[in-house]
Amino acid sequence: MYSITKEIYFCYGHRLMNHPGKCKNIHGHSVKAAITLQSERLNDQGMVCDFADIAAASAAFIDSELDHNFLLHKDDPLVGMLQQANERCMVLNEHPTAEYIAKLIFDFILAKGYPVREVTLWETASACASYRETHS
Ligand SMILES: [Zn+2]
Repeated sequence: MYSITKEIYFCYGHRLMNHPGKCKNIHGHSVKAAITLQSERLNDQGMVCDFADIAAASAAFIDSELDHNFLLHKDDPLVGMLQQANERCMVLNEHPTAEYIAKLIFDFILAKGYPVREVTLWETASACASYRETHS
């Protein structure tokens, strides 16, 4: 099995409503998403996928939707306040944790037709969360 990993850097703000510590406060992260694709066969160019192609494919979501955006749970009272002030935010069905953001990126890349194996989101230099689907 072959695999490749492309790293994409972006920034976002969020807060975690149910967090008992300082993550409940509004704050931001400068993160790295590592997108891993896998394939049993190489294409005509001898690749799993051109790195530029996966960067371009993910840009439609990461650059356009996540980067420099403010991610909030749908029940967060800040959603209404920000929308009323015409401030940009992304409203999520789940809490905007690194785990869930990794899943959002995974789902987007998969829906684009790429053979994604795993997405890892490095929220800090020493802490990351990953999402992959298990196949029986
Ligand atoms: Zn955070």
